[in-house]
Amino acid sequence: MSQTGQSYTFAGQLLTCPICKQSSFEQESTLLHHEEDAQTPTDTYLCTICGYMLWFSPAEVDAPGQAYLLLNRPLQCAMCAHTLFHSSEILLNTRTAIFMQFNWATHHALNYICAHCGFIKWFFTEEVARPGKTYHVAHRQLTCQSCTRIAFRERETLLSSKSPTFPEADWTDQSTKNYICTTCGSIHWFVS
Ligand SMILES: [Zn+2]
Ligand SMILES: [Zn+2]
Ligand SMILES: [Zn+2]
Repeated sequence: MSQTGQSYTFAGQLLTCPICKQSSFEQESTLLHHEEDAQTPTDTYLCTICGYMLWFSPAEVDAPGQAYLLLNRPLQCAMCAHTLFHSSEILLNTRTAIFMQFNWATHHALNYICAHCGFIKWFFTEEVARPGKTYHVAHRQLTCQSCTRIAFRERETLLSSKSPTFPEADWTDQSTKNYICTTCGSIHWFVS
């Protein structure tokens, strides 16, 4: 990543990348599709230093949420530390040529959306307990942002502006890498 980014203030704080600790982002807008034709408008912030993608759903902010457990501990927002979320299932569907590699086809990702700031945590539990590998991003060992473990499975996702899954994305066929924690299933998105 070498584009020029800018700094953003989010929930009263300077938005900082949890992976590389820098504050330089590009903002995009995306629609996520649910099974029942429902849609969630999202704002994504791409870290211009390490490529990490932060997903937010502004529409979910301040709606009453629910507490969830992850590995027997309360699920906590990585951005604002609040612990109430909305959960929803997102279609990972090869029919749309979006989640095109491997076998995303028959599966759903689980999203937990922070009820306070709208930050979205992605999970794909299919990869839990499979053998994983360690990775380095921006010269740091990649650590799970949900459970701090270091083993991941790697997948690729194509975000296409022409697709029915991401119809209003500003990007054109942006290839992303997904690192999925083999302990908790948390998906980490990176634009390569
Ligand atoms: Zn970063
Ligand atoms: Zn939050
Ligand atoms: Zn994890």
